Amino acid sequence: MSKRALITGLTGQDGAYLAQLLLNKGYEVYGIIARRSTPTVWRLDELGIREEIRFIEADLADAASLIRAVQQSQPDEIYNLGAQSFVGTSWNQPLVTADIDALGVTRLLEAIRLVKPDARFYQASTSEMFGLIQAERQSETTPFYPRSPYGVAKLYGHWITVNYRESFKLHASSGILFNHESPLRGIEFVTRKVTDAVARIKFGKQKELRLGNIDARRDWGFAGDYVEAMWLMLQQDTPDDYVVATGVTTTVRTMCEIAFRHVGLNPDDHIVIDPAFFRPAEVDVLLGNPDKARAKLGWTPKTSLEQLITMMVEADLRRVGKE
Ligand code: NDP
Ligand code: GDP
Repeated sequence: MSKRALITGLTGQDGAYLAQLLLNKGYEVYGIIARRSTPTVWRLDELGIREEIRFIEADLADAASLIRAVQQSQPDEIYNLGAQSFVGTSWNQPLVTADIDALGVTRLLEAIRLVKPDARFYQASTSEMFGLIQAERQSETTPFYPRSPYGVAKLYGHWITVNYRESFKLHASSGILFNHESPLRGIEFVTRKVTDAVARIKFGKQKELRLGNIDARRDWGFAGDYVEAMWLMLQQDTPDDYVVATGVTTTVRTMCEIAFRHVGLNPDDHIVIDPAFFRPAEVDVLLGNPDKARAKLGWTPKTSLEQLITMMVEADLRRVGKE
């Protein structure tokens, strides 16, 4: 009999790639979909998998809906990817961010405890928990120091996952994933904002690109590689926490250069520094140490930043060209 998976955040970047991966492995994929006034399934359509998903209407703010989702899907594996995931927004909506990214995790864990305690659980934790970094390369043992309401909320989500594993013996794992991007990345994140702008500038539809702190450094990987690590965590006999990263850090400035040069443009002719995009508290640098994931999961990233940004620029050129 095929395995069943339940995904929250199905309509997001990672949810779409994870659903594709699980379908390819023969899983029955159930995804919770929150009610919105306009359709949110464009990523599933881009991957051509919408018809294969079993949708369940639920919301991480609504505990009863999560209980029903677990009852209805009877999943072997549950991936909690749903979140208010944008750091910038978390200063404007700190309470929504805490409700979904922190308490939402407890609501889902409670649903699992009540309905399907033998299900394996994945929590989407984040390198933003390291924030003001306490070690040059951040690993599973590096102390946390979040720098945004998002990071603080996710830290709660991480620890409640650890706590339910220790308290109730749930097979609950937390993936501490560093930034990962793709052509399906939300437009507000810096990589996609840049690749979309590069395509628009190339087609003459835009002239300048307004950015904030381009000296910030991130450890960027490809989302398609990172969802494999999520799945691998739930295939282990013992639940655990893992850093998932490339081990390479790059400035926003250099990432921009890769994107602009790919279409023969000079970033200095187009980038305008705009204080509106500076953050109240910044995470200056992130650099992950993925040794544990490599050793225990056999996971390694397959896509370089150059390949990733090129893939994203090409996808945005196709999109803008069709507009
Ligand atoms: P996205 O922003 O692309 O997707 C977020 C998903 O959460 C969407 O499907 C969204 O639904 C859903 N969602 C938001 N609010 C609710 C709610 N109240 N109830 C149910 N679902 C909700 O994020 P990513 O795919 O990039 O990230 C996946 C997870 O991994 C997130 O938890 C994120 O915080 C975390 N993460 C991401 C990293 C990255 O670099 N991408 C790094 C580390 C962690 P809708 O489409 O309806 O808005
Ligand atoms: P984050 O690491 O989850 O916050 O991912 P983002 O892609 O939103 O931001 C990565 C880094 O790029 C942060 O240090 C931002 O301050 C920096 N950055 C600089 N300019 C911009 C911008 O215009 N938009 C965004 N989103 N980030 C920017």
